Amino acid sequence: MLNHIKQFANYKTPFYWYDMGLLQETLQVVKNESEKYGFQVHYAIKANANEPILNMIQSFGFGADCVSGNEIQAAIDSNFSPEKIVFAGVGKSDDEILLGLDNSIFCFNVESIPELQVINELASKVGTKAQVALRINPNVNASTHHYITTGLEENKFGINMWEMEAVLSRLETSDSINLIGLHFHIGSQITDLQSFKSLCVRINEIQQWFYSREIIVDHINVGGGLGINYSSPDKELIPDFASYFKLFNDFLETRPKQKVHFELGRAIVGQCGSLISKVLYIKKGVQTNFAIIDAGMTELIRPALYQSVHKIQNLSSNLIEQKYDVVGPICESSDSFGKSLMLPETKRGDLIAVRSAGAYGEVMSSQYNLRTKAMAYYSGTPNKSK
Ligand SMILES: *Cc1c(COP(=O)(O)O)cnc(C)c1O
Repeated sequence: MLNHIKQFANYKTPFYWYDMGLLQETLQVVKNESEKYGFQVHYAIKANANEPILNMIQSFGFGADCVSGNEIQAAIDSNFSPEKIVFAGVGKSDDEILLGLDNSIFCFNVESIPELQVINELASKVGTKAQVALRINPNVNASTHHYITTGLEENKFGINMWEMEAVLSRLETSDSINLIGLHFHIGSQITDLQSFKSLCVRINEIQQWFYSREIIVDHINVGGGLGINYSSPDKELIPDFASYFKLFNDFLETRPKQKVHFELGRAIVGQCGSLISKVLYIKKGVQTNFAIIDAGMTELIRPALYQSVHKIQNLSSNLIEQKYDVVGPICESSDSFGKSLMLPETKRGDLIAVRSAGAYGEVMSSQYNLRTKAMAYYSGTPNKSK
């Protein structure tokens, strides 16, 4: 990364920088490891929807996991095949459902009985059948930040098992719906593979429940959530996809001809992006100094929203390390990238890299304080903005 410092020197900060070589290597590993078991991977577009990134992911033959109509449109615009598009979300609007039907997407991941009813009505109205998977709340704790755990009964996501009899009777009268699968997603930034093992065990039980009612679906979608190493990104630029997929192959009991689907976002794009910023001021504090940089929570909200830690690097200095609170310019105290960080002596004008910002970074940026939207640059195509 430090090799690129000269290349960065002329760009207006802050900006996102994406290492497309790393993305390509990561995608190759995902492809090799998932194909060993015949698994189908869908990229979760909400992690990063930049066109060059979507194009590269699409070129590997992966599907797309969408959570809005505009994401479905972005997937189609980037040539993702509609037969590989899945559509999740607790609040799909009528227009979004119609867009999905119009494009004959592979599957709607349905999260409630009322949604089932609306999809059935809309599909019937336009004279088509909707392929549907039930998003089931497996009640598995993902041991991650409570804002990004989604598989507990108290969460708004998915259908709970105690409602399933009612769902099945609703399906019997839903002539414009084909039940093709079961869907699960327990949360994000999960680094303990035990959580995924618990998910497999739970899915096996749930499949047994359906089996005893003579229901076998063709597709099991286990969602995403594989985490990345934020504290030491260089030690693990590519997550351990081999162990991840092997675990599902070892513990998930599939029926003959059942296909297993994944929806990965963060693990695919997280490490390939950095937010590059410039130091505006060094300000004396009581215990530490503040390094005030020109990027803030408007460009990367994860530290403020999830108390997440990103590795911070000074790309311009190799002087003796000192303690800094690295903060942004936004008028909010939560606009901080880290307290008491050890960084080489830092001065105005130094370039700072906030690492592992490829997922849920640029897509979550805002224009709060009427900030200018940061540009994006891609390695290999240095002057191409998005
Ligand atoms: C966000 C999301 C994903 C992707 O999660 P990652 O942690 O980025 O892998 C997958 N499936 C659903 C339903 C989601 O909402």
